[in-house]
Amino acid sequence: MGMVEDTVVKAKEAFDVAAKKTNEVIALQKLKVSASAVNSQMTKAYGVLGRLTYDMHVTGKDNTTAIDALLEELDGYQKELEALEGKIALAKGLKICATCGQKNSAASDFCGKCGSKLGAAEKQSPADEQDSE
Ligand SMILES: [Zn+2]
Repeated sequence: MGMVEDTVVKAKEAFDVAAKKTNEVIALQKLKVSASAVNSQMTKAYGVLGRLTYDMHVTGKDNTTAIDALLEELDGYQKELEALEGKIALAKGLKICATCGQKNSAASDFCGKCGSKLGAAEKQSPADEQDSE
């Protein structure tokens, strides 16, 4: 076992670390691309929703069935987006507060916003109640 082999092993290790890092960056990039794809689907759905609603207003036609279907679709996108955002936070090494949804650094034991104890990373919807607006 000479110096050369030693160097090769070290280079291989450095390469593995770099490759792992690259894979993490790619994984994060993929998640971000998926999230933005879901986002643009949602934007489209909002557009259709607006048209259906306005069409109903102008023509008096009953579009509620189509609107309900669209709202269901949007619920699905919303859940998908939340799941992706959770994964993105995890990929960045963040801990998401189960109580308020705040993203905290992986080193934190308690939430920086609400003070809840941060356990294993698990995702829970922070706002289940309706906004009164
Ligand atoms: Zn919190």
